[in-house]
Amino acid sequence: ATPTALLVGTGRGAQMGVLIKGPEVLESTRKVDTVVLDKTGTVTTGKMTLVDVVLEPGTDRAELLRLAGALEDASEHPIAQAIAKGATQEVGTLRVPEDFANIEGKGVQGVVDGHAVLVGRESLLAEWSQQLSPELVATKARAEGEGKTVVAVGWDGEARGILIVSDTVKASSAEAIVQLTALGLTPVLLTGDNAAVARHIAAEVGIDEVIAEVLPKDKVDVVKRLQAEGKVVAMIGDGVNDAPALAQADLGLAMGTGADVAIEASDITLVRGDLRSAVDAIRLSRKTLGTIK
Ligand code: ADP
Ligand code: MG
Repeated sequence: ATPTALLVGTGRGAQMGVLIKGPEVLESTRKVDTVVLDKTGTVTTGKMTLVDVVLEPGTDRAELLRLAGALEDASEHPIAQAIAKGATQEVGTLRVPEDFANIEGKGVQGVVDGHAVLVGRESLLAEWSQQLSPELVATKARAEGEGKTVVAVGWDGEARGILIVSDTVKASSAEAIVQLTALGLTPVLLTGDNAAVARHIAAEVGIDEVIAEVLPKDKVDVVKRLQAEGKVVAMIGDGVNDAPALAQADLGLAMGTGADVAIEASDITLVRGDLRSAVDAIRLSRKTLGTIK
């Protein structure tokens, strides 16, 4: 394509809410055959709400919400914000933890009101020998089968309960996946969340390939592995932890609603935060470069 055609193409993109970093980006867009999609905030709205609290015998609900809520209030993770908000609504203003650490892709750990508290994946609690009872393990599995995310809470050496958080698929996601598939691309769902939740969300939007339970730092390796298999990979993400994978991909697309570092690491910004804009970007590149399949 001529420089003028590329310029016209990027200009048309801007009108559609597809911000393209440079004319050469259209060339890489055209070659993509695999589209890796982050789950939370990309396929789903990322707006989580606390929908249920299930306690181990002997645990006081308000105490669990106070301790878990205080710790999560110090975290910026969407799951954490949902828990802090739900806890505040029920027990009022939350304390400031005496100590706090974020454990990437696993949860949070800290000291609240003199208690050593853990909130996060069941496996994080297990690292500290805090085991959920078989009843709660079963409740957790049931909720995850429904596509909900379950976070375990423990303190002072014991698992105390679970918090059930729900996210919803964006209305536009399923349609975008149908269109991406129709263009001959293979969508792959990539998430740090557990496999049952991931599969449920994938089924809801029509994605067959799921790569779940991937730690934030390992997302980039998934992209590298697909590239090593000969795939030309587009990555679509929104989060701080997606940035390295967005940069590694042959084409990085960031949700305009996402983190600044994700946008900076990407070649294309989808201003509206709508996956259908990714379809627009691919159609535009094919049209501009004169290779409509
Ligand atoms: P995603 O890839 O879906 O954006 P992350 O990699 O950020 O998710 O997190 C993976 C998992 O780690 C979450 O699904 C959750 O179970 C757990 N987790 C991470 N951060 C927190 C937190 N602050 N509170 C509770 N759980 C967390
Ligand atoms: Mg995300």
